[in-house]
Order: sequence, then structure tokens, then C-alpha cells
Amino acid sequence: MTRHMKPVDAIVLGLGGMGASTLAALSRRGVDALGIDQEPLPHARGSSHGGSRIIRRAYFEHADYVPLLNASFEGWRRLEQASGSTCLHRTGVLLVGPADSTIIQASRSSADAHGVPVELFDPDRMRRRFPQFARDRGWWGLFEPDAGFVDPEAGVHAHLAMARRSGASIRRPMKVISVDGDDHEAVVRTDREEIRTNRLVVAAGAWTSSLLGDHLSVPLIPNRKAMVWFEPVDPRACSPAEMPAWLIDDGHAAGCYYGVPAWPGQSAPLGVKIGLHGPGSVVDPDASHEITEITPEVVDRFTVDLADRLPGVLKGPIAAQACLYTMSPDEHFVVDRLPGRGSMVVVGGFSGHGYKFAPVIGETAADLAIDGATAQPAGFLGLDRFREDQLE
Ligand SMILES: Cc1cc2nc3c(=O)[nH]c(=O)nc-3n(C[C@H](O)[C@H](O)[C@H](O)COP(=O)(O)OP(=O)(O)OC[C@H]3O[C@@H](n4cnc5c(N)ncnc54)[C@H](O)[C@@H]3O)c2cc1C
Repeated sequence: MTRHMKPVDAIVLGLGGMGASTLAALSRRGVDALGIDQEPLPHARGSSHGGSRIIRRAYFEHADYVPLLNASFEGWRRLEQASGSTCLHRTGVLLVGPADSTIIQASRSSADAHGVPVELFDPDRMRRRFPQFARDRGWWGLFEPDAGFVDPEAGVHAHLAMARRSGASIRRPMKVISVDGDDHEAVVRTDREEIRTNRLVVAAGAWTSSLLGDHLSVPLIPNRKAMVWFEPVDPRACSPAEMPAWLIDDGHAAGCYYGVPAWPGQSAPLGVKIGLHGPGSVVDPDASHEITEITPEVVDRFTVDLADRLPGVLKGPIAAQACLYTMSPDEHFVVDRLPGRGSMVVVGGFSGHGYKFAPVIGETAADLAIDGATAQPAGFLGLDRFREDQLE
């Protein structure tokens, strides 16, 4: 027989980057909130692990994200101040590519439109200032000095600590089996009991589509991605003092290679972290071997490609780990109430570029759950954009 727990004001399903910040935002506003996750903390089976996530404002993905990024930088600052944790490391971010690459052109126009301070380096100045990158490719660089990376494990811990401090309850490990709801109430069925709530925020990462089923009109598809750590030839040259975080857009068919310098204190292996930003292979997030295994062929591919792009900089791979992207059809986030089910808010489809936004997504989700609307400039992330009559 199903046990029925006493109703709560709000439930946050999933306590990764987005759920942890949502729980903190709800409880700070005095809402009696419960957070649930199927895994103990910390865990490496979702999307918010691996020691670093690049954060930048010169946003090639779309200029509309920049106001949200301004709010997010402010959110990280407030979180650090309130929690006493360091989450944001300002190493600067260098975007690298041919003069006509998307990364240079679109990031520059986002920066120009919103007054983001950036410095453009032509190939000659690149060779002198950033000699790590292939010197013979004629690459340009767009450097954003205030940008850097955030530590996802520290961010999740700090948001959860703030949520607890404001009175939130957390239950984990506890698996949610199904969710349902209408405009007034949502019902969450877990492996142990049934819980009713006035507001439900689904922040289930790669599991969002399978949990919401037909309640969500767009598919959010889990993709596996590799993170590979390399030992540097010269540790100083690859330290945050000498090397910014970076992305290279050089026409590679699978996406942009990116890297984060080796930093002492990282909860990941001590090396330069390398990834390849772009869609990965589609996986079932419940098939453990699929989401944890990185094959030697993938690591070999990274090794060859990096030797070409950062010649003489990296010795060899020292560790590899998998992580999940959750791809939306247009690679933009989905942040909205579910049509006809106003008690349910979804934050998902972060398509491999969401973590930096965690504080502002949490605030937005809390607004939508409490007030049904938000003053954050997040309208472009709504579900309306997928309506038949909105599509070209
Ligand atoms: C390799 C890699 C590199 C990335 N690099 C960057 C970057 O440089 N910059 C950037 O901004 N972003 C980056 N991202 C993207 C970013 O990390 C994600 O967008 C973000 O972490 C998504 O957080 P989330 O809370 O949606 O998902 P998650 O962190 O996966 O959280 C979802 C949680 O829901 C829980 N859950 C799911 N189903 C259930 C259930 N049925 N019952 C109970 N609990 C459940 C899961 O256990 C999980 O803890 C990267 C992602 C990857 C994988």
C-alpha cells in the first residue's frame, strides 16, 4: 500500500546544479520546500560534476542570454558571500578561431550589443600573448578578462547549504517514479510514498523527458560527453595564472574543443581538463555502463586532436570521465510552466551550456512556481517557441 506523506508547499525534483539553486531560492522566500534526488551527494551520474564549468558573457549561442548572465554573475557573488564558499574562478576566457568563425563573430556581436568588456587579438598578437595555441593557423582570439569557470560541486554544495539554512528539507537517495498535476496541485510518487504539493519544479536533467512523458511537448535528449584530464608539460604554463579557460572553433565536425587550466583544490583529477562541446552519443541515463564508460578510442582521439591544436603543451591523458548533456531541439534551455498544468515548472534541456546560469535559473524557477511569472528576461526560453504556429 502506498504511504502518503503530508503535503508540502513546494517540491524540487532533482538536486543537481539547477535543482539545488531552485531549492535555495524557494526556501529563501519562506516557502516550505522539499528537495528530492535519487543519488547521494555528490554524484557523477548526472551533469553537474567534473570540477569546472566555463562562465562567460560574450555569448555566441545568442545575445539574449547576456542579461541572464549578468544576473547569474551577481548570483554567484551573492552565493559566495552568503555561504563563504568559493565557486567562481576568474581566469578570463579566451575564444579562439579563424576571423570569420562563429565563436569570434557571434561572441563579439553579443559583447558589443551588451557592453561586455572584451579584447580582440589578431594572429600576431595571439602568437605573442597566448603562445600555447597553434601558431601557424592564423587564429584570432577574443579575450574576456572577467570571465572564468565555476566549480559545479562547490556550487551545488553551497546552494544546498543555503537551502538547509533557510529551512528546506532534503531527501536522498529517493527515486521519483512518476509525476502528475493540474493548475492547482501536483502529485509526486516516489519509491516509498506519494507526496502532494502546490508547486513542483522538475529539474531532473537527463531524466526530464522520461519523467514528464506526454506532459512535455518537446523531447529533451540525453547525450554522453567525455571529459579528459591531461598532464601539462609545464605546469606553470597551464596554471590559472598563465592560461585562461578557452574554446576553439576551428571547423571540427564534432564541435569546439575547450579547456580549463589545472587548479589546485579542484575536486577532479589535477590536470588540464579538456572537452569537446557539441552533441554527443544518445544514451539511456539509467544504463550505468553507458554513462560512465569512456573508451580508449575517445581518449586517443582527444590526444591526437589536442597535440595539433596546443602543440607541445600537454603530456598525456591522466583520467577520463563521462557526463551528460540534455539536448533540446534548438539547443536553447526550456524554462517554463507546463501548459494546462500550472503547478508544474520545468527547467531542462540545458544542451551542454547551462551550469553557469544556475543561480538565475533557480531564481526564475522560484518566480514561476510562486508567482506564475518572472521579471527575469527569460521569456525566450519558454515552451511557446515550439508551438506549431511559431515554427517557420
Ligand atoms: C562534460 C560537460 C561539460 C559542460 N561544460 C559546461 C560549461 O563549461 N559551462 C556551462 O555553463 N555548462 C556546461 N555544461 C552543462 C551543465 O553542466 C549542465 O547544463 C547542468 O549541470 C545541468 O544541471 P541539471 O541540474 O539540469 O542536471 P543534473 O546536475 O544532472 O541534475 C539532475 C538531478 O536530477 C536527479 N534525478 C533525475 N531523475 C530523478 C528521479 N526520477 N528521482 C530523483 N532524482 C532524479 C539526478 O540524480 C540529478 O542529480 C557541461 C556539461 C557536461 C556534461
